[in-house]
Amino acid sequence: MPPATTGQKYSGHIGSLSPQQAETLEKFRRELSDEGFYDKERHDDAYLLRFLRARRFDLAKAKKMFIDCEKWRKEFGVENLVKTFDYTEHNEVMKYYPRYYHKTDKEGRPIYVEEIGNIDIKALYKITTPERQIQNLVVEYEKLAAYRLPACSARHGKMIETSCTILDLKGVSLRSFSSVFGYVKQASAIGQNYYPERMGKFFIINAPMLFSSVWSLVKPMLDEVTAAKIVILGSKYEKVLLEYIDADSLPTKFGGRCNCVNGCHMSDAGPWNENEENVVVGIGKEIEMISNGMTVEKVVAQA
Ligand SMILES: [Zn+2]
Repeated sequence: MPPATTGQKYSGHIGSLSPQQAETLEKFRRELSDEGFYDKERHDDAYLLRFLRARRFDLAKAKKMFIDCEKWRKEFGVENLVKTFDYTEHNEVMKYYPRYYHKTDKEGRPIYVEEIGNIDIKALYKITTPERQIQNLVVEYEKLAAYRLPACSARHGKMIETSCTILDLKGVSLRSFSSVFGYVKQASAIGQNYYPERMGKFFIINAPMLFSSVWSLVKPMLDEVTAAKIVILGSKYEKVLLEYIDADSLPTKFGGRCNCVNGCHMSDAGPWNENEENVVVGIGKEIEMISNGMTVEKVVAQA
């Protein structure tokens, strides 16, 4: 895939490695293997390179990150969780804390929307627990790698390794934010430490003025590549979003033209949902349509 946004000659992705980076990759694999942390099935080159890029090809640092991640996966029981997690409260949770994948951006990356401004923590924790929310987050990261990204890659004929996030802060208040701060902190730590290099683009929309001012202070402190991926927008964000996302892929509420059956937040529409073997439609109307003999392709097309 084309490198995200680096001005460098070698992006550190497959097909764009300097001789030195390629050598570091080999060494990384060998050392992990010698120490019993390498699993041929799970750790392909793309996987290893994400950890190397996250640590700027510093072998010692990348190794520490990788091993910490392997240990965490064991402790958290990731493999087992993926097989057994039954997110029965999904539909209810979506009322109080909508977060969902929905179609792809112009680069072919899955779009992930999180409407954190709408969060109602009191109502939310009546139907679920913080622990289960974190478990769901982990399961979603695993699904992203297991079938959303591969489906996007297949659709676009190039390797897609990252997603495009829209974080909607509409309605967020200091009080609501402080109530979810613990969760947000834990969730971002999991993302950064255990699922590195998954951020392709990150739009924060409906950001309060203060937020934008703080961002302009923080931005110069971040590394260039990361900073370039993050875009902070106020209430007039539509034009910018549409530069990156086709109107047909962007929900109407964000200035696009997509209106999925039962709402874009419930459709799980995207390339990952267009082969029958990958079906995760799991909800209301679509299930009804499928059981009435319609193919998934048709359902998605109507969505
Ligand atoms: Zn939609």
